[in-house]
Amino acid sequence: MKSRRYRSHYLLIGFMSLVAGMVLGLGLLAYITYLSYTAHAAAYTFDEPLSFSQMIKADKKPVKVIATMPKPTPTPVVTPDVRIAPIVDGLAPIVTNLQTNQPVVFLTIDDGAHKTPDELQMLKDNHLKATLFLARLFIDEDPGFFTGFAAAGNLIEDHTLNHNINMVQTSHEQQKAEICGMADYELQHYGRRPILYRPPGGTYNQLMQRAAADCGMKALVTWIAKANGGSMQYQIGDHLRPGDIVLMHFRPEFRQDLQAFIDAMKSQHLHTELLENWLP
Ligand SMILES: [Zn+2]
Repeated sequence: MKSRRYRSHYLLIGFMSLVAGMVLGLGLLAYITYLSYTAHAAAYTFDEPLSFSQMIKADKKPVKVIATMPKPTPTPVVTPDVRIAPIVDGLAPIVTNLQTNQPVVFLTIDDGAHKTPDELQMLKDNHLKATLFLARLFIDEDPGFFTGFAAAGNLIEDHTLNHNINMVQTSHEQQKAEICGMADYELQHYGRRPILYRPPGGTYNQLMQRAAADCGMKALVTWIAKANGGSMQYQIGDHLRPGDIVLMHFRPEFRQDLQAFIDAMKSQHLHTELLENWLP
């Protein structure tokens, strides 16, 4: 009897210890969980206190890695305050510069004779877009070289098939063959028909203005400043002005010419825009 009573006491004590142990264990677990949530909540900064479910969500929030690469300087796009003159009486207007108050200049690069990958890379590195007046004579051995320029947002325009600097002495039909022929060639190779025309050597007459318009050209484009031999040359004054059209070439000194242009442009707080955006 005595031993049975003791046994029941032992059982009771054992059972109570088990219950106490479980209570203590659960309490400890709850406390650890609380500490863990508090630590997680402290890792985020929120304006409002978090509910437990929000904390759990916050805990699952992916960590954002912010790239430290420098952002490219975007070219500001200004609204044209003037427009290139329209075609009148079947004659393409002659454009030497634009009388704009916007801080823009227009870069044109001609012929296409000298070709290295550096040339496109330099334009890209400096966030420049240019109008390229190409002639078949200079590019026919590798027209594909210029597809990268077009893909980068530069526009390929018409500079005739054979770059005859005495084209003014030829007939209207011969001029049309040169200008329309190059327009077809560029459409075939670059998927866009040109809309601007530059006469070889810059020499033109009224017959050529008519031939250009007949071939779908919206303007006959000359220039007012040049980047040449590593320095700038101005027809008027000694610096670039808003609306100036600048002539450059694909030549071995491309890098020096482009740098001279960039320096001249930045010194006057100007940036490049595409001339095509200023058509009526
Ligand atoms: Zn030329």
